[in-house]
Order: sequence, then C-alpha cells, then structure tokens
Amino acid sequence: MARYIFITGGVVSSLGKGLASAALGALLQARGYSVRLRKLDPYLNVDPGTMSPFEHGEVFVTDDGAETDLDLGHYERFTGVAARMTDSISSGRVYSNVLENERRGDYLGKTIQVIPHVTNEIKDFINTGDDEVDFMLCEIGGTVGDIEGLPFFEAIRQFAQDKPRGQCIFMHLTLLPWLAASGELKTKPTQHSVKELRSIGLQPDILVCRSEQPIPEKERAKLALFCNVRPESVIAAYDLKSIYEAPLAYHREGLDQAVLDAFQISPAPRPDLTVWQDVYDRIHTTDGTVTIGVVGKYTQLEDAYKSIKEALIHGGMANRIKVNVEWVDAELFEDDDAAPHLERYHAILVPGGFGERGTEGKIKAAQFARERNIPYLGICLGMQMAVIEAARNLAGLDKAGSEEFDHEAGGKRFEPVVYHLKEWIQGNHPVTRNLNDNKGGTMRLGAYTASLAKGSKVSEVYGATEIEERHRHRYEVDVTYREKLEECGLWFSGMSPDGRLPEIVEVRDHPWFIGVQFHPELKSKPFEPHPLFKDFVRAAKEVSRLV
Ligand code: GLN
Repeated sequence: MARYIFITGGVVSSLGKGLASAALGALLQARGYSVRLRKLDPYLNVDPGTMSPFEHGEVFVTDDGAETDLDLGHYERFTGVAARMTDSISSGRVYSNVLENERRGDYLGKTIQVIPHVTNEIKDFINTGDDEVDFMLCEIGGTVGDIEGLPFFEAIRQFAQDKPRGQCIFMHLTLLPWLAASGELKTKPTQHSVKELRSIGLQPDILVCRSEQPIPEKERAKLALFCNVRPESVIAAYDLKSIYEAPLAYHREGLDQAVLDAFQISPAPRPDLTVWQDVYDRIHTTDGTVTIGVVGKYTQLEDAYKSIKEALIHGGMANRIKVNVEWVDAELFEDDDAAPHLERYHAILVPGGFGERGTEGKIKAAQFARERNIPYLGICLGMQMAVIEAARNLAGLDKAGSEEFDHEAGGKRFEPVVYHLKEWIQGNHPVTRNLNDNKGGTMRLGAYTASLAKGSKVSEVYGATEIEERHRHRYEVDVTYREKLEECGLWFSGMSPDGRLPEIVEVRDHPWFIGVQFHPELKSKPFEPHPLFKDFVRAAKEVSRLV
C-alpha cells in the first residue's frame, strides 16, 4: 500500500507547488523509494486540451494520450516517471464522470450530492494504482479557500481517515511576505492560511514557506507554534537561480527528512544525490553561451512553451553551454525581410502551434535557416512549415499550404501539402475523426512509433532506427508529395511503421535541419537530455564558435 503526501497551497497562487512536489518526488527516489505524482485541478474544464496556452500555459501530453496540466511536465522532468492519463484530473472530469454514472442509473435513484458522490469519485481517482509505488504525491491545484477546491479538500480529508493511521501526510506551501520598510518577514498570512485549512479538517504536517529572505529562528518558532507543526517541519524555500537546484536546496532545508519523520520511518535510508549534484554542476560550470530564437505565436507567455524552454536548457547542460532562449514573434516579419529579425541567432526553433496567424513568418524563418545553413528544429507545426517552405521554394508549388488554414478561413486558397488526417492506426486499432467532432480530444494524441531511415541524420542523433514519441496534432504532411520533395533534397527520414505518415523530415545538404511531427521536448529531462535537443544545441554551439 502506498503512503500518500497531499500538497496544498495557500496565501497566493504561483508559489511553485508543482516544483516543490516534483523536487520532493526526486528526493524520495534518491532515498531508494518509488514514487508517482498526481495533479488534482479544481477548474471546471474537463481537461486543459482546449484551454488557451495564454491563460493556462502549455498542454502536457502523456504517452497514453492525455492532455494534462503543465505541472505533469515538472513531475516527469524531476522524477523521470512517465505520467499517465490517471495522474491528472479536474473538477470538470469528476463531475462529468458523476453525471454519466447518474444517467446510466448507477446510483439507483439516490440524490446525487457533492458528499459522497463527488468526493467518492475523487477518492477513487487518488486510490488508483495504490499498490504500485511506495509514495503517491497528490498536488491540489489552486489555493485553500477557493470555492472550486472544496470538494477536493474534503475528499483528501476523508481519504486520510479511510486509510490506516500514519498512511497520509499533508504538506502546505505558503508565502512569507517581506516588508522592506520594517525589514520583517510576516507570518500572519501563513497563520491564516493554515487556520483556513484546519477549519476544513486538515492539519498540515509540513509547512513549506517561500521567502525572499532567510527565516529567522524566532519566526520559525512562531510559525510552528501557531500553525501546530514541529519547528523542524517548517521548511524554507528560497528563490533559486535554476529550478533544477530545487532537490538539493530542499534537501539542505530538511524537507525529505521531515517527510520521512512525519511517516515515522526510522532509520531513514540515506539519500544518493549524485544525479542532482551533476545537474547542478552542469548548470553552473559552462563555457560560453548560444542564443536560440524560438519563432512562435504565444511568445508573450513563456509558460506556453514550457517544455521547449526546459528541453533547450537540458541540451545546454549536455553541452556545458548556457542557452539563451529568445522568443520571436513570427508576425513581425510576415510582410518584411526576416533576416534582420533572425540574423543574431545561432539556431532557430519553430515550435508547435494552432491556426494560421503567424504562419507566413514561420515559413520565412524555415527558409532563412535553410538558405543560411543555420541549425533549424521544427516541432509539429514547425515541421509542417518547413515542408510547406520546401514545397513552395524548392519544388515550385507556389500555392502549397495547410488545410488547417483553409478550414479556418473557409474556402480553398492552398494546395494541401499538409492535410486534415481523418483515419489512422493506433497500435492495432483504426481511429477515425471528423472535423466537426467536438474540439476536445480529436487529435492524434500520445505515443506513436516512428521508423528512421538508415544513414539519416536523425538515426545518427537518436542512435536508433525505431523511436517512440508523443504527438498532439490534427493535420499531417501528405505522403503523396514525398517523391517530389525528396528529389529537391527534403528527405522523409522518419515514417510511421505503415509508411503512411511522415514523422520526420531533414534537409540533406544542410548542417542541421530537422522537422519532427511529434513533441520531443515532452520527454527531455535534465539528467537525460533529449537526443534531438542535445544535438541541436551542439550544432548551435558550432555556429557560435564560427562567428
Ligand atoms: N496545428 C497543427 C496540427 O494540428 C500543429 C499542431 C501542433 O503543432 N501541436 O496538425
């Protein structure tokens, strides 16, 4: 039976609960335990798949095809444990399950209520896979006191009651604001937050306090006294230069020890932190900087491309070089020369995206990188843009475009080199989709295999001829253009095993030009940088040494 750690937040949002959870997961692993991390999100969307990346950050996709919160990306990056569909749930999903059960008559005519029907649904979710790991870490999104969060808080209270004593602990993350005028760290908001938590029956065992300043002993004692936690369970979380320092920093502050103490695990197994020491070393001992331009649409909010940013940093760590990521708005040079906007970059990345806005700029970025021999990595839409660019400028198909843009605008303006995929094979099953299906969940989602051509750049980069990567898209490069494009030097070097779906293209006579239909960034980790990002940054490093 797993032990459970419930992580809640108070005072303000965006304190780094996901990061704290992920770092704690890594620390428990370092002590030899197996872990799984879960996210319970109180919002009413069924999943983040249809939420705007401006509002909610990127959608993280799991191998089994769930569209989840970006915190699951943190969990994977810190623990290396591949997240699953069953690791993420929202109020929307909970209520929709409950209502489905009700319509089916599963509740035998009973009145359906938040307690017990909704809370039971949440408890069942938490309990899934209980026998698989030593520790299950469940993070509740939002902050205590949010109306939507109440059923989740009530469910975890009941859950801990249902389990044998000592099986569950609660960790609460808050902020200690610093008042510069009086030179004081204030504990009152934390006291109030814990009071709120206790009023709904939850007593935290561990208090993690974000703070800009060292927490004096006096304040620590006060927090312990008023919040009813042990002084050694008041853990300071200071701002860090890199998020990957978090496991070492939390260990220094005694978080993992406090957690094991709360479970009365004694003697505690000694941690082996060599992986994180190496990660630390790679962040801090670097030689030089490369500047990579990410040409996209959601450039105002870095969270929209969270995994890409992180994967580039991992690539930098692999090459012991600092990666400076700059976000370039593709719309800036749609009617203009791209060169002045892109010349300063050692490499160009065009990430995934939806809709026509900005695409002409992205096509220009691909052309610029191809013609100037600048390393180019195109991800999903970024691959489609590279194919359209080659079709227009190498194969002379002036009207080449994507059906996605015609669908959006209505009418037929483009020759669909990229078309809407309606039928494909997943494992051994055929899948069919229609453009008029509900927007949620109509994409080719999750892990698919690709076969890589022998002698290709990608097979060399991966050191393999068969790979598995995660997908999230509706449109697909039309394989009927393969011959024509290959004649012009755009090699379809990675294909779906049935040979129908182009997975990777690369430009033959180019130092580094690769487009992938999938999202390699989702699988990159600081201690295991993704081979594509590792090599892409290496290629950028070469360019930087030339100038
Ligand atoms: N909009 C494109 C499609 O649906 C690309 C999606 C993406 O980049 N994730 O195929």
